[in-house]
Amino acid sequence: MTLIRLTDVSKAYPAPSKDSEPVVAVDDVSLEIEAGQICGIIGYSGAGKSTVLRLVNALEAPTSGAVEIDGRDITKLREKDLRELRSDIGMIFQQFNLFESRTVAGNVAYPLEVAGRPRAEIKTRVAELLDFVGLGGKAKSYPEQLSGGQKQRVGIARALATSPKILLADEATSALDPDTTQEVLDLLRRVNRELGITILVITHEMDVIRTLADRVVVMESGRIIENGDVFDVLSAP
Ligand code: ADP
Ligand code: ADP
Repeated sequence: MTLIRLTDVSKAYPAPSKDSEPVVAVDDVSLEIEAGQICGIIGYSGAGKSTVLRLVNALEAPTSGAVEIDGRDITKLREKDLRELRSDIGMIFQQFNLFESRTVAGNVAYPLEVAGRPRAEIKTRVAELLDFVGLGGKAKSYPEQLSGGQKQRVGIARALATSPKILLADEATSALDPDTTQEVLDLLRRVNRELGITILVITHEMDVIRTLADRVVVMESGRIIENGDVFDVLSAP
């Protein structure tokens, strides 16, 4: 089943100054991602990777083309359906984006509080999520007391709080050392295998793609220049 489908999608940002052209960040991209896959998007800085992620979670609207999640065109959703879509998509970031003034539990609880879930349910769910990411003993700690790898595990727990179908990872291991990177990649693999969550990762690191992804999309100047099985694409001359 196709979970994410981009059809002839382009995204242009307004010209930065009067005598320059609009910036075409994504240029006529078509892409299908099957439910259950781990898909990597790789490319240099400025290739359009983050824009693709922001189109998938409806933070940006395409200039042209269609973005479908689970068969629904998300550019045509009303406010209520958009909120529902957002709870179907979790996101993690290079700099973790944790709330420094909230505890680990408070960070993980946040999306559930926004969704208006009952307190008792939040408490049970937070404990379950912290166990899943191996931070059961850190509920009362603050982000500044954690290592980078632990912070990203909190980010993952928070992203999973609303039981999303899709996890988007934006350079999620780029701020981590190699050993910690492996730990986080192992956890992401468990998120995929044990929870059945479809993962879309963007990275400029070939190793991340090689160890994590089932398939890879290579972007350059807003376009897809390669797309296929990781082994085939990376071993091509
Ligand atoms: P990547 O994630 O591969 O580094 P981006 O999607 O961030 O690529 O950027 C693609 C292009 O779009 C770049 O030229 C970038 O400068 C431009 N761009 C990205 N976001 C914006 C924005 N909000 N406004 C204007 N230009 C942007
Ligand atoms: P903060 O001060 O960071 O906002 P709180 O202690 O107020 O954190 O907790 C925020 C949420 O996290 C609450 O909904 C609470 O139920 C949940 N929570 C707090 N401590 C734990 C814990 N040890 N295990 C599970 N959930 C917890």
